[in-house]
Amino acid sequence: MLVVKVGGRKGLDYDAVCADLAEVSRAGQRLILVHGGSYQTNVVAQQLGHPPEFVTSVSGYVSRRTDRRTLEIFEMVYCGKMNKEIVESLQKHGANAIGLSGIDGRLLEGSRKDAIKVVIDGRKRVLRDDYTGTVKQVNTRLLSMLLDAGYLPVISPVAISYESDAMNVDGDRAAAAIAAAMGAEQLIILSNVPGLLRAFPDESTLIERIPAQQVERYMGFAEGRMKKKVMGAAEAVQRGVGRVVFADARVPQPVRAALSGKGTVIE
Ligand code: ADP
Repeated sequence: MLVVKVGGRKGLDYDAVCADLAEVSRAGQRLILVHGGSYQTNVVAQQLGHPPEFVTSVSGYVSRRTDRRTLEIFEMVYCGKMNKEIVESLQKHGANAIGLSGIDGRLLEGSRKDAIKVVIDGRKRVLRDDYTGTVKQVNTRLLSMLLDAGYLPVISPVAISYESDAMNVDGDRAAAAIAAAMGAEQLIILSNVPGLLRAFPDESTLIERIPAQQVERYMGFAEGRMKKKVMGAAEAVQRGVGRVVFADARVPQPVRAALSGKGTVIE
């Protein structure tokens, strides 16, 4: 079982990623894809007159402020445009992809944060009415059913709370939760960097190997959004995923390059 997460930054070539995924899937690999969409969400939010807002938690993690209107835009872009374009591309490349979000069949269930503590202009504030949360449970039966029937699930990281509210969850950590729950041997996290860099943005400072027990010690190298990836990787290896790779989505055959060990390999 292989779980791949593809990021949502500007300029990623999803078609190249899909062509490679279809090839890997054709070779008999059971595969689940989780996708991002942050750049497109920002564009559409601007166009709709509800520009994105990012907040930093008291512990230093950056996340999207998700009021009800943002959640609607998030769903439009992730579950609509992004998910369907990826499914279309995989279908063109011969993989029988099926798009789902975490609210469908309670695929990704978890707890909603009813109040988040953030720092704005150096001052602590409590935000309520935020539709964000953390995945606690994965409907593995649903995923296994689809995989057994030969489908390639393509998942948008929108989850459902225990009270049945939709919520925005971090895609990297959702992918980590799916990989752990499905007993995946490997989790590949593709984005617009070659891996975890010792001195971001200098790409010659790629950290090539991290022993699984030491992931948290590398958290210090990650800034901003990269922190969630390191956190996701730590969660995945702690919960039994054999190997996590942070790899470049911009190279030819990005999935196979990551499988061959290019990028930051945590094991
Ligand atoms: P995605 O949308 O692909 O999931 P994110 O934007 O969430 O990607 O996270 C990847 C980004 O993290 C990179 O584009 C880079 O700007 C940033 N980053 C911060 N620190 C590092 C680091 N040490 N190594 C690599 N990237 C880093």
